[in-house]
Amino acid sequence: MSVSKNAQTVLERRYLIRDEEGAVTETVDGMFHRVAKAIAAADLQYDREADVAALADKFYHMMTELEFLPNSPTLMNAGRPLGQLSACFVLPVADSMEDIFEAIKQAALIHKSGGGTGFSFSRLRPNGSTVNSTGGVASGPISFMRVFNMATEAVKQGGTRRGANMGILRVDHPDILSFIDCKKDNADITNFNISVGITEDFMAAVIAGGDYDLIDPSTKKVVGHQNAKLVFDKIVEGAWHNGEPGIIFLDRLNRDNVVPAQGEIESTNPCGEQPLLPYESCNLGSINLVKMLKKGEDGRYRVDYDKLKATVHAAVHFLDNVIDVNKYPIDKIDEVTKATRKIGLGVMGFADMLLYMGISYSSDEGVQMAREVMRFINEQGHLASQELAKVRGPFPLFSQSIYKDQAPLRNGTITTIAPTGTLSIIGGCSSGVEPVFAYVFIRNVMDKTELIEVNPILKERLIQRGLYSDELMRKISKEGTIAHIEEIPADIRDVFVCAHDVTPEYHVKMQSAFQEYTDNAVSKTVNFSNSATLEDVAQVYMLAYRLGCKGVTIYRDGSRDNQVLNIGKVK
Ligand code: ADP
Repeated sequence: MSVSKNAQTVLERRYLIRDEEGAVTETVDGMFHRVAKAIAAADLQYDREADVAALADKFYHMMTELEFLPNSPTLMNAGRPLGQLSACFVLPVADSMEDIFEAIKQAALIHKSGGGTGFSFSRLRPNGSTVNSTGGVASGPISFMRVFNMATEAVKQGGTRRGANMGILRVDHPDILSFIDCKKDNADITNFNISVGITEDFMAAVIAGGDYDLIDPSTKKVVGHQNAKLVFDKIVEGAWHNGEPGIIFLDRLNRDNVVPAQGEIESTNPCGEQPLLPYESCNLGSINLVKMLKKGEDGRYRVDYDKLKATVHAAVHFLDNVIDVNKYPIDKIDEVTKATRKIGLGVMGFADMLLYMGISYSSDEGVQMAREVMRFINEQGHLASQELAKVRGPFPLFSQSIYKDQAPLRNGTITTIAPTGTLSIIGGCSSGVEPVFAYVFIRNVMDKTELIEVNPILKERLIQRGLYSDELMRKISKEGTIAHIEEIPADIRDVFVCAHDVTPEYHVKMQSAFQEYTDNAVSKTVNFSNSATLEDVAQVYMLAYRLGCKGVTIYRDGSRDNQVLNIGKVK
C-alpha cells in the first residue's frame, strides 16, 4: 500500500506504536493489520466458527485501499491495551458540586483516551442564584465551563491528541447573553466549541419579533424575558466576530432521538455531527468517495454503485464490531452505548468526487449529486444493519425505539457526516463534505527551497490541456482561487471552485442535502469572505433553519488571528 508523505508523517507522529524510548516500532501497514485483526475478532462473539482471518483481510484491504477509514481513536487504539475506539461522547452535567466535578473527571478519562466530549450546561443554576447548603451565591455555567476548559488543557493526551469539547447552553437559560459572549476573546475557553441550543419556540419568536421566557433550570420557574430578535442578533454578531457561538436546533435533534423514553438529547460531540444521550458514545467511519468512482468507456467518471454498496455493508459490519471490541473509559458509558449501539458512517472526498465528475460544488447539480449518493448510503446502511440484526439481534432498546414497528435494526443510528480532519489527510482526499479549500499551497522549506503542492485532480486536468506551469501555480496560490485566472479555460474554472467561491447559500444547500439522508448530523462550515455583513450571516442562519439543518457553524475569513487554513497567503 502507499500513503502520501503527509499521511506518513501524521501517522508516525500520533498513530503508530512506539517503544518506551519513544521510537516508532510499527509500520503503517502494521497498523492496518492490527486494526483489521482486532475489529474482525468481534465476530467470534456471535459465531464461534466465524472465519475471522478472511474478515480481517477484507477490512485490511478496505482500509489500505483508502476506501474506508474508521475514526482516529480506532486507528490509534484497536488491538492495544488502552483499546478506546470512539471519537464521540456526551456527558451529563447535573446541578451539584459533586456532579460537576464528577463530569470533569470523566471528561479527563475520555480525553486521555483520544475521545472528544460534549456537555450541556443548561441544567446548572444561573449566576447569582442561591446555594442552599452554604447560603452563598452560585457562579453559573460559564464559570464552570472555564474549569472544564482548564482541566482539558492540563490533560495533554500522552502523545495522541489534546481534548476537544462542545459546550451547549439552551437559549432560554438566564445566563444566555454571557454565554454568547464567553468566547469573544479568541484566547478564551480555547478547548471548547460552543453552541446555543435553539428551540422552535425561540425561532417563532424571532420571526414574530416577540419576547420569550427565560427559565431557571433549578426551579423550572420563569425568571425573566428576552427579546428573541435581540438574542438572535447577538448570536449572529458573535458568529460574525469569530465563528462562535454556533447554533444547534434542539427540537430537531430530539425529533430524531431514536429512544425518546430514555430522555432528551441535550448535546452533541465537539464538532456537532453526533447528537447523543448522556453517557452515550459513538464510533465513526468514513467512505472515501473518490475510491467509489469508475471511468466509463466515454472517459467520464460515474459512481460505482455496486462497489459503494459492498463498501457500505462492510463498513457497517466493521463499525458494529467496534462497539463490542471497544474498551469504554467508564462502565456507565459501556452500558448506555450498548443499549442503542449507535454508529456513524459518513463520507469524505465528496468535493474531489465532483471534480472528477466535472460537476461544480456550487451548483444544483452538485447538490443533487449529494442527495443521490447520501440517500444510497443511508438506505444501504440501514439494510446492512437489518441484516446484522437478523443474526445478532436488534439493539437492546429497539422495542421502545421510533423504529419499533419496522424491520429490526442492529444500530440505533447508522449515518453521520464527520469532519474527517485527520482521516482525509490519511485518505489523501478532500475532507468530509466540504469543498476544496485551496488548490495550490506553496511552502518554504527550511533550506529556502519552494515546495509547490497542487491538488492532483487540477494538476492532471491542466497537464492534459498543456497549461501546467510553476508560474501559473504561483499565481493561483497568490489569488487563493482560480475563479479569476484568465489563462484557465472557463469549463475548468466553473468546476474547480474552492470554499470561498461557493456562495454561503450553496454551502447551506449542500449541508441540507446531506442532512436529508443522514440519521445524525452533518459537520459543515459555511465560509464567508472577510467583507461579509451581519445580515449575510443572519440570512444563512434563517436559511439553515428553513432547509432543515440540525445546526450551523460559520466562519468569516480572517476573523481569528491564528486560523488553521489561509487562502491567498504564501506561508
Ligand atoms: P478524525 O479525522 O481524526 O477521525 P474528525 O475530524 O472526523 O476526526 O472528528 C470527529 C470527531 O472526533 C469530532 O467531532 C470529535 O468528537 C472528535 N475529535 C476530533 N478531534 C479531537 C481532538 N483533538 N480531541 C478529542 N476528540 C477529537
